[in-house]
Amino acid sequence: MVAAQSILAKKAGAAVIKATVTKIRESSAGVQVETDDGAVYTAEKVLVAAGGFSINPDLLPARLDLTVFARTVAYFEVDEDEAEALGTVPSLIYKPEFDVDGIYLLPPIRYPDGRFYIKIGGDPDNVPLESEADVCAWFKSRGTKATREYLTRVLCDLMPGIRVLQSETGTCVTSYSPSGYPMIGFSPSDRIAVLTAGCGAGAKSSDEIGRLGAVLMAEGSLADEGYDVDFAPSFS
Ligand SMILES: Cc1cc2nc3c(=O)[nH]c(=O)nc-3n(C[C@H](O)[C@H](O)[C@H](O)COP(=O)(O)OP(=O)(O)OC[C@H]3O[C@@H](n4cnc5c(N)ncnc54)[C@H](O)[C@@H]3O)c2cc1C
Repeated sequence: MVAAQSILAKKAGAAVIKATVTKIRESSAGVQVETDDGAVYTAEKVLVAAGGFSINPDLLPARLDLTVFARTVAYFEVDEDEAEALGTVPSLIYKPEFDVDGIYLLPPIRYPDGRFYIKIGGDPDNVPLESEADVCAWFKSRGTKATREYLTRVLCDLMPGIRVLQSETGTCVTSYSPSGYPMIGFSPSDRIAVLTAGCGAGAKSSDEIGRLGAVLMAEGSLADEGYDVDFAPSFS
């Protein structure tokens, strides 16, 4: 999805620079963005949309009130015959009536390694990540055994006859604002804005969330967008 969005951005005239931003700071000349390859870009305005990494204190002039949770997801490998037999299974968001924790499940999809996996996410544990270093370390890990076992039980309950070859886990994060809505607005600086906090539901709404970010940068405000919601970011 990010690859598709990057292609669309390029077609619309954006320059996509593949580098990690190490520092963003404001000066009288504008906003300087430093990257890990030593380059420095100067912009009139900057929108920081770094997902859970937006807690990085070097990206914004103040500490964002963002809670980032570690999430484990599981991939269950099935062979091509099983994948074909399950081919009409839809993507699923499942919330049991007597259980607060729901899951989402994707039908068998061929991944870049050529194999078919059913993916399930829905971590029952809310383990907060306090710093950018914690987020990086989490992404390099394989997730938790407890969530893997939980998601395996969920799969067996939902698809009792499934023939799984093997399973793997992956890691992810979800980020939340105090309001439960995305934070889209200027930081204490009127040149540096932030757009983050998908609150676990950012992907499906990302076209509109991104559009609001673009409007904010072009118009300076979201006042004319007709939303009855306060998207203002909060800082601690
Ligand atoms: C397990 C899981 C399941 C989910 N399921 C759903 C779902 O079913 N439906 C749904 O709608 N949403 C879902 N979400 C949420 C959705 O994925 C997120 O809300 C969404 O990806 C947030 O988009 P974003 O652009 O704000 O951040 P991200 O997608 O995290 O993008 C931030 C980008 O910034 C880059 N970045 C970070 N720091 C730097 C830096 N210093 N320099 C340069 N680049 C940097 C990152 O590499 C990344 O590419 C799920 C999330 C998880 C973890």
